[in-house]
Amino acid sequence: AHLARIEAVDEKVHAFLHVDREGALAQAREVDARRAAGEELGPLAGVPLALKDIFTTKGVPTTCGSRILEGWLPPYDATVTRKLRAAGIVVLGKSNMDEFAMGSSTENSAYGPTGNPWDLTRIPGGSGGGSAAALASFQAPLAIGTDTGGSIRQPAAVTGTVGVKPTYGGVSRYGMIAFSSSLDQGGPCARTVLDTALLHEAIAGHDPLDSTSIDAPVPPVVEAARNGSVAGLRVGVVKQLSGEGYQDGVMQRFGEAVELLRELGAEVTEVDCPSFTKALAAYYLIAPSECSSNLARFDGLRYGLRTGDDGSRSAEEVTSLTRAAGFGAEVKRRIMLGTYALSSGYYDAYYGSAQKVRTLISRDFEAAFGRVDVLVSPTAPTTAFPIGERVDDPVAMYLADLCTIPANLAGNAAMSLPCGLAPEDGLPVGLQIIAPAMADDRLYRVGAAVE
Ligand code: GLN
Repeated sequence: AHLARIEAVDEKVHAFLHVDREGALAQAREVDARRAAGEELGPLAGVPLALKDIFTTKGVPTTCGSRILEGWLPPYDATVTRKLRAAGIVVLGKSNMDEFAMGSSTENSAYGPTGNPWDLTRIPGGSGGGSAAALASFQAPLAIGTDTGGSIRQPAAVTGTVGVKPTYGGVSRYGMIAFSSSLDQGGPCARTVLDTALLHEAIAGHDPLDSTSIDAPVPPVVEAARNGSVAGLRVGVVKQLSGEGYQDGVMQRFGEAVELLRELGAEVTEVDCPSFTKALAAYYLIAPSECSSNLARFDGLRYGLRTGDDGSRSAEEVTSLTRAAGFGAEVKRRIMLGTYALSSGYYDAYYGSAQKVRTLISRDFEAAFGRVDVLVSPTAPTTAFPIGERVDDPVAMYLADLCTIPANLAGNAAMSLPCGLAPEDGLPVGLQIIAPAMADDRLYRVGAAVE
């Protein structure tokens, strides 16, 4: 049924870069066979999913939204891919994304943008716009995203779906193509809080193949999602994540969500996180710095595209021509920013300062979580903007992640879930909930109560 739905609507939405029809049907049959053989399968066995094209899938195209990986067939599965298969979850295909997960609108995909199912002329968020659009257009009931600065939560917000960035280290990064390794975190996306929790449980857990994976039990997310409650919970409204630049309708729906929390018995206070105002600036030094190192592996020799290798050129020239042809404008911009910020003489002024700000942000969180159990804010300052509106203005694009970036810098867990439609444009608004590291279950307890 989902393959038929994809066939019917994806020409318009463009949520998928690759639909693995045969692979999906084979997996579904395998689930039937396992069940027939008496195997105890998990609650999501046989349920289809859209997998962000940043995760390697053995023998199935994986482009990361880039020309430089066009035609590449990974020789191995990411840990997330492997866990999905083990749970019997059927991978329908690979979802569209901004190239190397750099963007907030999916317009940086080398294969063309994705439309927001609420209004196809608007962006579905990014970088995981394909995953979110697949959910919102009912092409898949489950999806996987990655969140370096907001790429699970902001697409969830603007498409009226649910997305969770787990605690950093909660879901393995093995086989998840690296953008900014100290920030990147894979996570679950779905249309309800409980579906998201079930998927979270299926993909989370310690992985010896990822050195930053946390060796501790997965927080009880499913139990929390089944027992939504905020009675007696201390909720902090982040003072710095509102005000100027926030759309009126976003603030209105957010205010109503806070009111609902109060009515349901939460103790709501305002919380001051002064360093959050510098989070965006720090992120745009740290993320490009790490990307400039991580993307060095795309040299035209090891993977995918190779340009100009006619026997007359040196390896260096071939690498240079391949990168010029294979990387898009935003990726080049970030590599240049990053190599500059890391270069000798500038390192302390830029990268070093950004790391200090990162520590201050972690301290703001620590102080806040000494007083409250969870923090809340809007997920994004605006609803979905029109495709094309911000493509020539990278700074305007970067502002879409104003509210989501602090949790990445500190490694906390965070969720976005729908909190109504903005009255001025009828488009979805997201409520962000942030919890301390390894308290991912709190997101689900609160989310299930207000959903
Ligand atoms: N929009 C942010 C960026 O462009 C976040 C991306 C992400 O979370 N992958 O870097």
